[in-house]
Amino acid sequence: MIEETEFDFENRIVSTEMTGEDSEVEISLRPKAFEDYIGQEKVKEMLKVYIDAAKGRGDSLDHVLLYGPPGLGKTTLSGIIATEMGVNFRVTSGPAIEKQGDLAAILTSLAPGDVLFIDEIHRLSRSIEEILYPAMEDYVLDIIIGKGPAARSIRVPLPKFTLVGATTRAGQLTTPLRDRFGVLLRLELYKAEELATIIKRSASLLEVNIDDAGALEIASRSRGTPRIANRLLKRVRDYAQVKGDGTITLDIAKTALKALEIDDLGLDNIDRKLLETIIKFYGGGPVGLETLAATIGEEAITIEDVYEPYLMQIGFLSRTPKGRCVTRLAYDHLGIPFGVGGGVQMKIDG
Ligand code: ADP
Repeated sequence: MIEETEFDFENRIVSTEMTGEDSEVEISLRPKAFEDYIGQEKVKEMLKVYIDAAKGRGDSLDHVLLYGPPGLGKTTLSGIIATEMGVNFRVTSGPAIEKQGDLAAILTSLAPGDVLFIDEIHRLSRSIEEILYPAMEDYVLDIIIGKGPAARSIRVPLPKFTLVGATTRAGQLTTPLRDRFGVLLRLELYKAEELATIIKRSASLLEVNIDDAGALEIASRSRGTPRIANRLLKRVRDYAQVKGDGTITLDIAKTALKALEIDDLGLDNIDRKLLETIIKFYGGGPVGLETLAATIGEEAITIEDVYEPYLMQIGFLSRTPKGRCVTRLAYDHLGIPFGVGGGVQMKIDG
């Protein structure tokens, strides 16, 4: 077993999850209109059509499910939907709704047309999901009053609202819930050029000077994720202030990112160790997800949602029916001769 302490999961600078440090700045950098929301052209185009159509009918927008890895702009996009529809934006998340009453309270406080955003919607409990079905379909709340033989059900009408659900994978949702969304949209990892545009926009809001080459350098190490791009920008800005004249150039960006141990593809120590673990202990794969999770001491779902999308996008990892395999490209990047490392085969959980 690899020492778990080798992996510092908590303080990953390239984590796609929101950290305390992000929240304040993220709010100020968050685009408020479609014009400022860079990339995801297909998704924007479709949403604009649906929004125009709903507005034309004087109706609320159909329920929308946004799915894709964390940090790609699901919350941001939902806020833009509310702004474009000219309605209130309410935000909550699956884990935050603990009791049926929590959800009932939110639903009954909505005004007609409002957008209710539920992040991590796949984490709603089954009994809470059941409240959502009639709410989404018929805009009613079915409440049971009393217990046992005296229990009776009453129906409370709700205003017509729009539920925007976000999840890392559409497949995580139960079928009855997924079927109640009229619009399903998948967000993709961003191209480096798009991230460079996002970085330049953020830099101007933060009043930081950055040249094109500096922006592209940060962008190409941001794992296709705006949240990471903005976070790296802030770190490199600090570096530029202390070690340079405050302007982010290619040189400054390169030196700062090297100091942060983020390589030219945006991989950090954890990515490299993950790949090295598969090479060293499983001959480069295939290794089952659960086995890998046990070996590195991380949850399988986190490996799938947070680490793998980018490693697969750059062609370093493949998912096969038998398990995960490291590709030749990854061996080359890590400087390990291809085919080496298969010596020690360990079995952890079969
Ligand atoms: P998610 O909800 O998918 O985890 P967020 O909507 O919270 O992601 O986005 C994280 C941050 O990334 C936002 O605060 C915003 O500043 C930035 N961001 C996301 N998408 C875009 C985009 N398309 N254009 C510009 N900035 C973006």
